[in-house]
Amino acid sequence: MHMSSGSTGTPVVMPYTRADLDQWAECMARCYRMAGAKPGDATQITPLFGLFNGGFGMYHGARAAGLFVIPAGPGNTARQIRLAKDLKTRVFTAVVSYGVRLMEILEEQNETLPDLKIGIFGAEVFSESMKKKISSGLNIDVFDIYGMTESGGVGTLGMDCPAHDGIHIWEDQYIIEIIDPRTGEAVDDGEEGELVFTSLTREALPMIRFRTADLTHVISRDTCECGRTHLRVAPITGRRDDMLIVKGVNFFPKQIEQTLLGIPGIGNNYQIIVEEVDGVNDVRVNVEAEPGVTGYMVEKALKEALGFSPKGDVYPLGGLPRQEGKAKRVFHKKIGE
Ligand SMILES: [Zn+2]
Repeated sequence: MHMSSGSTGTPVVMPYTRADLDQWAECMARCYRMAGAKPGDATQITPLFGLFNGGFGMYHGARAAGLFVIPAGPGNTARQIRLAKDLKTRVFTAVVSYGVRLMEILEEQNETLPDLKIGIFGAEVFSESMKKKISSGLNIDVFDIYGMTESGGVGTLGMDCPAHDGIHIWEDQYIIEIIDPRTGEAVDDGEEGELVFTSLTREALPMIRFRTADLTHVISRDTCECGRTHLRVAPITGRRDDMLIVKGVNFFPKQIEQTLLGIPGIGNNYQIIVEEVDGVNDVRVNVEAEPGVTGYMVEKALKEALGFSPKGDVYPLGGLPRQEGKAKRVFHKKIGE
């Protein structure tokens, strides 16, 4: 079994039969092959091996795809770099913030990983700007993998292909629908809504019309330029329950990330602090930046993107706390009770 903390804090337990593990391995192996991994490629798996499904899912798939597995697990970036160099890692898998961490440490040490070609990242907010940044920083092709505990784990729902024009959904394994979250009615292709899936092949805990809370839209049902016929959905914009409403404006943490990364000199680590002051929400955005970036520059960029300017502080690079594993970007505080 695997377990996630669940977005509401109630643990979600996913049991597996032997066939479920095979199904997971099949979906995940497709992701590796789609990214260009070949049998024998050294694959460094850095998500946690434990209740969180990331490490084991990457492992089952890597075995099914015939890859050489380095089950590194999270943390100890110096050792990760050593492993990658010594074993000529070609495929690196991680939660998004760990990809960023690896990039930062390599930059600090003025090191590169010339054998590394493919990065598969997931489990966290992943804006287009961050994908570009990791892709050019590590000089690799970056993939956005999709799956959750309820669908059977990482990679079960799909991933983007080398054309990077949306996430291919494994439609032989899952039926997906995009619905209006208020009415439950299916929306037209191209219209944004909540992704709902039905698992066709899972045994221990099949799901029928499971509401993911993830917001996206169908990009196309036509054959992709990569040749695959599985439909494509847009990378997840945000989660229905992650949507922040401040001063009457609805927005997602991803929009803040996208805006921040557009400011020259800004770092990769940031905090969004939603403060509820006597029942009214306000938001602060703390960032890391190189000398010369001022709070005014950050406020101005955010005002253009969101329509109001959150307050916040600018810290030197490395000045904000970091976590191993899944990064926490949004903090909620109550003031005045
Ligand atoms: Zn494709």
